[in-house]
Order: sequence, then C-alpha cells, then structure tokens
Amino acid sequence: MSSHLSLARAGRFVFVATLTVALATASAQTRITPPPNKYGPADDVKAGQEAAQQAMKQLPMLNDAATEEYVAGIGQRLVAAIPPELQHPEFRYTFRVVNQKDINAFALPGGPMFVNRGMIESAHDEGEIAGVMAHELSHVVLRHGTAQETKATPYEIGAVAGQILGAIVGGAAGSLIAQGSNFGISTYFMKFSREYESQADIEGSQIMARAGYNPADMANMFHTLAAQGGSNGPQWLSDHPDPGNREQRIRQEATALHFNGPGLTNTADFNSVQGRLRGMSPAYTAEQIAAQNKRGGYNNGGGPVATAGRVVQVSAPSGSFRTYQPSQGLRVSVPSNWMQVDAGQNSVTYAPDGAWFTDSSNNNSAFTHGVEIGVAQGTGNLQNDTNALLRNLSQSNPQMQQSGRAKNDSVAGRNGLTVQLANVSEVTKQPEYISLSTTELNNGSMLYVIGVAPRNEAGTYDSAFKRVRQNLQVADR
Ligand SMILES: [Zn+2]
Repeated sequence: MSSHLSLARAGRFVFVATLTVALATASAQTRITPPPNKYGPADDVKAGQEAAQQAMKQLPMLNDAATEEYVAGIGQRLVAAIPPELQHPEFRYTFRVVNQKDINAFALPGGPMFVNRGMIESAHDEGEIAGVMAHELSHVVLRHGTAQETKATPYEIGAVAGQILGAIVGGAAGSLIAQGSNFGISTYFMKFSREYESQADIEGSQIMARAGYNPADMANMFHTLAAQGGSNGPQWLSDHPDPGNREQRIRQEATALHFNGPGLTNTADFNSVQGRLRGMSPAYTAEQIAAQNKRGGYNNGGGPVATAGRVVQVSAPSGSFRTYQPSQGLRVSVPSNWMQVDAGQNSVTYAPDGAWFTDSSNNNSAFTHGVEIGVAQGTGNLQNDTNALLRNLSQSNPQMQQSGRAKNDSVAGRNGLTVQLANVSEVTKQPEYISLSTTELNNGSMLYVIGVAPRNEAGTYDSAFKRVRQNLQVADR
C-alpha cells in the first residue's frame, strides 16, 4: 500500500530555478550570517536522523505518491536555490507528508522535512506552501537547531534528537515522547529565538526568490496561519514566534529582491493535489495520533504494527444509496459513499474510503466499516446453515461472540435470520459490531450479508445494514 517517495521528478524545476538566479543575485538582499555553532554539520545530520526515525514511529505518513512527489518537487526547487555559502554536502533533504489535520510542518537538522496534510489543505496556493517550506529549510541551512543547543544548554548532542522530537510531537500531540525526560527543555529547544525566526524569514525569502517563488507568499502564508488560529493558534506559529512586523519585513525583503510578477504558482498541480486530499478519508487529529502512540505508534515501513491497532476514520454512511450489479441476477444498494472494494468467486465487499485493508505479506484483507455479501453452501435448513457459517467465521475471528439469539428478519425480500455479534477488529484492535443476516436461495445455497462497524458506531451503521439487506435483489426464481 505504501509507495516510497521519489525525488526523481525534480529535474524540470531545477531548470526553472537556474533561470531566476540571475534575477535575484542582482538585487540588494540582506546578508544573513549563521549563528555561532560549536557542533559540526555531521552532528546536525546525526541528530536529525535520530529524530526522523522517531517521527516515523510516532506520526502517520500519508504515503500517497502523487502528494509526496508534489511536495518533494517544491522542496527540491527550494534546495536548488540554497546559496552556495550555506550548502552543506553532508546534508540530505527529504520531504514527507504527515496525514495530520493540524496545520504544521517541521524540518530536522541535516535535512529531513515533514509537512502536515493540514498545511497543504489550508494553503491558498503553491507559493504559500513554498513559503513555509523555505522558512523551515532556512532553519536547517543556518543550522539553528544545533546553534540553539550551543547557546542554551550543557546537554550532549546525543540528547538533541529526543529533545527536538519531544517538542514537535509533544507540542502537536501531547507529551508522547516526553515520558519523564527533558520535556521542559525540549519545548524551549524548538521554540526558536526571535533572532533565528527573523533570519529564517529573510533567508527563506531569498531562497524563494531564487527558486522563482514570490517571497510575499511567505507573508501570505503567515496571514493564512494566523487566520486559521482556533483557540490557541496553529502549532506552527507558537513554534516559530513572530519576531515582530514579520509580514512587513518579508514584503520589504521581497521589494529589495526586486521580485516582479506573481512568481511560480503551478496552479493546476496545486489544485489537483488539494482535490486529491479532499477525496481521502479525513486526516488524523493530534488526539487520535496521541491515542495511537499509546497503542504502540506507527509502522510506516509497511502495514499495521502487529501489536497495536490502527486509527481508522471514515465518513458516516451517506443517506443516499447507490445500486451495483456485481453479478448477473444480483443487485445491491449501498450508501453512496461506499465503493466495491473487493470481489471474489462467491462474495463482494462494499466499504467507505479508508476502511479496507490488505496485508501484502500474507494476502489477508480486512475491513472496519461496510458490508460483505456472499453465497455459501446450504442444506435447506437456514438455522443449521447459519450456524455453520458462524463456526466458519469464528475460525478467522477467534474473539467473535454472538450477542443474543438469531431473530427472524426480512432479507432480500424473503424470510431470513439476523444475528448480532461482538468482535475485536483485526485492524483497529478495538471492539467491533457485526451483524450477520442470512436467507435461503432457490438452488439450496445460502445468501449472507455481513455488516461490520466499530462498536461505538454500531447504531449509525445498523440502520445502513438493515437497508442493504432489505433492498437486496436476487433473481433466482
Ligand atoms: Zn521558524
């Protein structure tokens, strides 16, 4: 399911950047001097790599190739515009998108950058995304992380990674990594000084201009961030405090750079990625991510962590229904936001986006919300056949238990049975509700409908399951 990030697409953007270099170097830009630093660039790389590894365990990556390539494309364009005196050959710039709703982004020493999906979704154009990324990138190239460490604390470099991440994840999602360690210090650590913030604003403006973006878009993004504040304001703004007259100072630098015109917009690409994100299941909140970390965190290398459940969030069943004809003689109506996610010889499954999981290592699949409709061998005795199916299901769902007795019910317009069951989801490791309905077909086989939903959403889904089994049409007479 996860596809790895490719940086190969950056070629054409580098070309664009080269064209604009001549424009920007001719102008009177503010000269930025990196702060004193007792560490070497290799220390930045080490601290950043350790923190990045932790981030991969504690944050859900989006793992969407198109979105990641788009963001990496912006990143590579900016990296190509880093001035020669700030280039560190040891640094390696990588760009990942985190499937998190909160408007945030962070870059780690030595180059790894993480951009939240919420940041991409809230931007008004590509220049705004580039603005935040250029600011983050400037903290990296000016080596502010280790410079701050030089200035502020007696701690050894080995502790830096934990402190950085404690601040990132702690600030965004509660004190996940902070268990008894240096949380107070780490919070301070990531909250850069106003001097560093000002440097990142100015250096970022210059990098943007060299890359072909209008630096004023960085100021616009700060405006966007402030406007979407909520109660405490976005995390990004508290991690990157306003050094004073921030927007004005950036616009001033843009003028000094004689940047003319709107700059790069790539509106079509931007719109396409935003549209793509809108079509996905909602991004996770900081609270959901914190809860998942209590259950063992994330395994972004591939598939669910064996001992911990996944956070699954899908939109509620639509009130309008859509009809499918998966095979000759069978018509199925399901909520219109469900899709056919799987079809085999004897069964078909419908689920909302984000509720279907396959494990490529063993070909197992599972769904957390939706219905499976199928045909099983029968004997003509519906009660016995239903019990046989239940025994069969228990083998693959060892924690499944029947709640109460089977009740007579209408299924596909004929007499049937419905049984309610309690289970523990293989995917989320959380309590799950299952409704199983059965009826006989004329050829002696049994038609079944299995509805699945998290226990705490059973009420909402049960009425959808009822409509599905009542609206089923089977032409077998
Ligand atoms: Zn900053």
